[in-house]
Amino acid sequence: SKATLFDKGTRVNITFADVAGLDEAKVEVMEIVDFLRNPKKYTSLGGKIPKGALLVGPPGTGKTLLAKAMAGEAQVPFFSLSGSDFVEMFVGVGASRVRDLFKQAREKAPCIIFIDEIDAIGRARGKNAMMSNDERESTLNQMLVEMDGFGTDTGIIVLAATNRPDVLDSALLRPGRFDRQITIDQPDLAGREAIFKVHLKEIKTSESLDIHKLAEQTPGFAGADIANVCNEAALIAARKNKNGVDMADFQDAIDRVIGGLEKKNKIIA
Ligand code: ATP
Repeated sequence: SKATLFDKGTRVNITFADVAGLDEAKVEVMEIVDFLRNPKKYTSLGGKIPKGALLVGPPGTGKTLLAKAMAGEAQVPFFSLSGSDFVEMFVGVGASRVRDLFKQAREKAPCIIFIDEIDAIGRARGKNAMMSNDERESTLNQMLVEMDGFGTDTGIIVLAATNRPDVLDSALLRPGRFDRQITIDQPDLAGREAIFKVHLKEIKTSESLDIHKLAEQTPGFAGADIANVCNEAALIAARKNKNGVDMADFQDAIDRVIGGLEKKNKIIA
């Protein structure tokens, strides 16, 4: 989802409990959370804490959510910006925005910086993209300068999300930059069930729902689609003046979201 331009070191109260499934990714990011909580413990023997990690996975699978949960768990401020915000900007604006972001982050460290859709600025040269090459290169170069410019003991962890790690400029992936990759997969049946459970907490239901059945009926759905289904179902039931959302409302909501996904796929194809 879209990161606001940019989240200026806000405190978040999202935790790992809000992130369903993604068990392996959670184990990996917990390590990073622990670095933020106890940096001295890790540097005492001469080790270097990583500066950056890449969250790799399809749209809507919870990359932004997981990054926010890391900030919530470590109780540090969250800064973010999105690569797509730089599209069609004047040369130099992107670079100065990146500089500004890191300056503010240094002042508030320990903290997390999250860069959504890093591929929009981090594409290897010559690959077609929406941004002019000059602008992309100057923004990317500034990012590299900033990442090299802070020490591993500064307490800044830079996370970046992408669904196209293959197009990234290899300079971004060198040691001391985004040298760790954390994979976020499309949820399986059990994952979808867990995601439904998280989002159903906010919904007033009229009967005990068959959550397993809902998960079975939503193959290929990402977490964002499931959140959307829960919201749609609540609106459908409210429109019918019901006091609680029932299974039929969820069925309608699933059909509606499938319709929306098909439309989106048609536009892309
Ligand atoms: P994009 O690549 O499009 O930016 P993303 O991977 O960053 O997507 P999020 O923005 O984190 O996805 O997900 C959007 C919303 O979908 C979340 O705010 C949350 O409501 C829901 N969601 C996604 N994945 C999960 C999950 N694993 N558990 C619970 N909710 C989820």
